[in-house]
Order: sequence, then C-alpha cells, then structure tokens
Amino acid sequence: MTQYPEPGGSSDGALYGASTRAVHAGLPDFEQGAPLLGGPVFAAPFHLRGPKDAHEFGYGRDANPTWAALESALGTLEGGTSLVFASGMAAVTATLMTVLEPGDKLVAVQDGYPGVRFVATERLHGVDVQWVSTNTEEIVAAVDGARLVWIETPSNPKLDVCDIATVSAAAHKAGALVAVDNTLATPLGQQPLALGADISMMSGTKTLSGHSDVLVGAVSTRDGELVEALKRWRSQSGSVIGAMEAWLVHRSLATLALRLERSSAGALAVAGALRERGIEVFHPSDHAESAQMLQYGCLVGFVLESEARAQDVLARCRLVAEATSFGGVHATAERRERWGTDDVPPGFIRYSAGIEDPEDLVADLLGAL
Ligand SMILES: *Cc1c(COP(=O)(O)O)cnc(C)c1O
Repeated sequence: MTQYPEPGGSSDGALYGASTRAVHAGLPDFEQGAPLLGGPVFAAPFHLRGPKDAHEFGYGRDANPTWAALESALGTLEGGTSLVFASGMAAVTATLMTVLEPGDKLVAVQDGYPGVRFVATERLHGVDVQWVSTNTEEIVAAVDGARLVWIETPSNPKLDVCDIATVSAAAHKAGALVAVDNTLATPLGQQPLALGADISMMSGTKTLSGHSDVLVGAVSTRDGELVEALKRWRSQSGSVIGAMEAWLVHRSLATLALRLERSSAGALAVAGALRERGIEVFHPSDHAESAQMLQYGCLVGFVLESEARAQDVLARCRLVAEATSFGGVHATAERRERWGTDDVPPGFIRYSAGIEDPEDLVADLLGAL
C-alpha cells in the first residue's frame, strides 16, 4: 500500500514549506543533461508491443506521461492519488457518476458551484438529492442514509465555510463518503484528505493554474478502487486534458504559493477597506472555522445598492477586468447575479484579487466607488 505523506511533510521525512513543495512537486529525479521539467508529450498511440498492459502508456485517452507528472505533483500536495481531467466540471461529473448509483442518496450544498446542481438534477437519474446550506450542523443533520456528501468550503460565491473534519466524522459514521470541492483554497490552503474527506475535487482552471488560460480539473483520493473506477470513467467519457494544458498547469504550480499568498492578501485588504466604508462584505475571515485554512483565497464578495451602481463601479475600475472565473494573476470581478444561478442580490459583486499590489487594488476600487 502506498503511504501518503501528510501535507507539510515529504516522503523522506523532512518538513518542507508550502512553496518548496509546490516548486518541487512531481519533478523528475535530478539527472545529468535532463530538463528540470520535461516538456509536453504529444501522442495519441504509443509504441505498445505485445499484450495490452505491456506498458503504462498505450493510448492517449488512458494515460500520458505529461498527465502522470502533473498527477504526481497534485498527489503530493493533496496527500493522495490524483487524476487530472479536461475541466473542473469533468472532474465533478467523474466523481458523481462513479460514486453514485440509482437508489442512492446524495447530500449536496445548494450554495456551491452551480454546475454541480445542474448535473445532480439533470443527470443523476434515480438518485435522491437532499440540498443543504454550507453550515456544519445542517450538513451533519442530513447525512443519515447518504452514499455521498458533497461540500464546497469556502463556498462560492458567498464564501461560507464548514468544518471538513466534523462533516467527515459524521458522514463516515453513517456509512457515507465525503467529497470536497477544494477549488478556492487549493491544496496549499487546505488539505481535505488529511482532514478526513474521502475525495478532494478541484477546478484547476482557477487559482491552481492561475493565468486564466487553461481549463483543468482534478480528483484526489486515498481509495485505490475509486482511483481505478475514476480512470475507467475518464477513458469511457473521454474527458481528458491535452498534454500542452497539463504541462502549463504543472509549470504554473511552481508559483502557486506566491500567487496564493499575494492574492489572499489582496482580497483581505479589499475586504477590510470595504468594511470600513460600511459595505456588506463576504469573506472567509468572517468564520471561525476558516482557522483550518492557511490562506483565505483570492475572493471577496460585496453588495452595492443596485445592478446599475454595481455595473458602474465595475466600469470605473482600471485594474479590474469584468470577467467570470477567479484566481488569475489579474484582478477580475463580475456582478454575479447576471448568470441567474446564485442566490445573491443584483448588486452583489464577486471580486477576485490578482497578484497586483494590494494597496493598488484597494485604491483602484475605492476610487471607482
Ligand atoms: C469553476 C468551478 C468549477 C468548474 O470548473 P471548470 O474548470 O470551469 O469546469 C467547479 N467548482 C468550483 C468551485 C468552481 O469555481
């Protein structure tokens, strides 16, 4: 059985910090003349002589060396075995379709990523779904009879948090598995598997890759059977990532700790400045449970009087691009209600701090206000 190092530790027992782990994750051994991070391997079929399992690489829908390097890196950071997918939604769908069968009960947060709700209501035929809000007691009260408990913490866009360890203990007692959407915190901010969750899912499109130029998803777990089932799903559904994208994500990992630290500081500074002006603010620092996170993440939500006022402020910001998604190196923001998918007022702005200087972001936003 594979022994997974606890986050903060390495397999040789030395303790490394977050940045060190992110920089070195998944790199090949030091070898004379070899590149530090090998380039992407573009291949549909690979040479495969003899039986179908003669080598790990046979066909590009099943495995690829560039994915393998990224998966090794993510596995180290999450403390489990990681599989990469074409997008966060491909990772969501893989998890739900692999774990759940007709007749099962799914407990899921209704204030999380809308795509999860769409798949749960439109595709999980015969699965009984119980919606809860991101609140530890409410989730714990719903776990009886569940096969899977799906949580997102901090949740998006209102940035509520719940206690992964408490939810996991209650779910396991009831015989349920726990999946955590770890997109916002990333495995550097929070390690769901170490806190007791069975599955950590992530959209790496956001902070993990961080440059607003690729889509990627990942699922991590310590359950070997689940890893095999997820691989079969990935191959059957064809929800695979291209080698170039996987390589870009691996390359971006090296700066994850720096980006997360800077964008978290930016979001915290923006939250503080808005609160000082008496504006209603949503930020993970509002909740005691967030103490389990190293960094709060790049997001802050706030509410302006109306749709018109919110659009006007977005238009006046010089450093903030009006765009969806989050976790990129450039600050972005949007009026979240425009999608019609989240229970937020028309003047609710979801703001994602980039890695700009926090004081510049604060000055820019206060100027726009
Ligand atoms: C964006 C996002 C997803 C979906 O990821 P894609 O890469 O866009 O498919 C899932 N969960 C959360 C929390 C997200 O922010």
